[in-house]
Amino acid sequence: MTVRVRIAPSPTGFLHVGNARAALFNWLFARHEGGTFIVRIDDTDVARSSPEFEEDILGGLRWLGLDWDEGVGVGGPHGTYRQSDRFDRYREVAEALVEAGHAYYDDRDPAELDELRARAQREGRHPGFYIRRPEREATAGVIRFSVPQTRPVTFTDVIRGEMVFTPDVIDDFVILRSDGTPTYHLASTTDDVDYGISHVVRGEDLLPSTPKHLLLAQAMGAEPPIYAHLPLLFGPDGKKLSKRHGDTALRAYREAGYLPEAMFNYLALLGWSLDAETTIFGREEAVAAFDLASVSKNPAIFDRDKLDWMNGEYIRTRLSTEEFADRARPFLETGLGRRLTDAEWEAFVALAPLVQERVKVLADVADQVRFLYVEEVEYDERSWSKVMKPGSETVLTEALRRLEAVEAWETDAIEAALRQMLADLEIGASKGLQPIRVAVTGSSVSPPLFESLAALGRDRTLRRLRRARERLAASAGP
Ligand code: GLU
Repeated sequence: MTVRVRIAPSPTGFLHVGNARAALFNWLFARHEGGTFIVRIDDTDVARSSPEFEEDILGGLRWLGLDWDEGVGVGGPHGTYRQSDRFDRYREVAEALVEAGHAYYDDRDPAELDELRARAQREGRHPGFYIRRPEREATAGVIRFSVPQTRPVTFTDVIRGEMVFTPDVIDDFVILRSDGTPTYHLASTTDDVDYGISHVVRGEDLLPSTPKHLLLAQAMGAEPPIYAHLPLLFGPDGKKLSKRHGDTALRAYREAGYLPEAMFNYLALLGWSLDAETTIFGREEAVAAFDLASVSKNPAIFDRDKLDWMNGEYIRTRLSTEEFADRARPFLETGLGRRLTDAEWEAFVALAPLVQERVKVLADVADQVRFLYVEEVEYDERSWSKVMKPGSETVLTEALRRLEAVEAWETDAIEAALRQMLADLEIGASKGLQPIRVAVTGSSVSPPLFESLAALGRDRTLRRLRRARERLAASAGP
């Protein structure tokens, strides 16, 4: 069988991590099977769809490296398919279903339908139980699909196994609204049939729609696709993933400086695993090993701490220092709010190996090295009050004296001078070096001190030490 899969995002919001995960699984399956991966834009809700969201979705897929293989129009190497191009086709299918007796026009008013729903509810039945083909057939209004009440709808889900839906829980659903626009059920099924989709791999939240889609496809005289429903994403607290757990839009992760390869790896683990022990793996390994049937049906936990850990691993172990510096640069410039000059870039490159060890996401880089790029540091007051103690003034005076005497302004010489100071004053690194760190970087947390001073340069270092000493003296009072 030739595998043809699709994702069908609605451009009514930013790409959700759950949809990105579904896209990834479809892509892995298609690439593993040598099949075709299609992106279809489900923009039947014209009022709520926007080009901004569409661009965000396609941009997110490209960022993850999920390339697609077919389509028309703009939007990618091959464009995409879009439902708003096909309203005539959906209407034609709906009318043909009426013609063939599988669907009917319904002009009952909302009050009458509400009454039928209320009656079903009172009797403890599915709300659509009484919404069936009325005696008197209409010739206008919505078009409903007529659900055969004779037998259950069954199918074998690749992930969840045998599924059975009795017909009394499937209402005669609307396929064409009275304004001639299709519902999701009609548009989705028509496209899955027309584009020859072999497998529909989508979130478990869509499971209740699947019997409707099977019935529709059969009524259209088509062989329905095979279905695989992916487990939903939960937060670490065991509740369905929502904004309460943090960002749910993929773009937030892009903007914070997660690496696409780390995100790819992490998303692949949401319901699937390469083997029993490998956590970190690349695209090719995932493609080679991917198997839809081994996806778990249990909820997958989206755990930001684990993602942070993984991203830090990727930054530390999978990027060369040059790659790290290059990839950090736009985040650094965004964080600083300006471009770096050539000299400033070189100062960053010098510190880059040390910063690389210390960040979990690229957006953290700016805070680590901001001290290099400002005229005067702004003191973090918590660091200041923690570190500046009686005696710190002496430390700063001694540091100044010894650093003024350093001949070649390099890490080794700076280190030697300050270590000698610690020995002479008989104090430890915390008492002796932390005041220097806060004076020079503004914070008690920074890249290693001696390298930081070397990168900052002699003049600025000495100036900052003097300024901090003055502030200390002023705060000590007369
Ligand atoms: N537009 C639907 C959604 O985003 C598509 C679901 C499907 O894959 O059929 O939920």
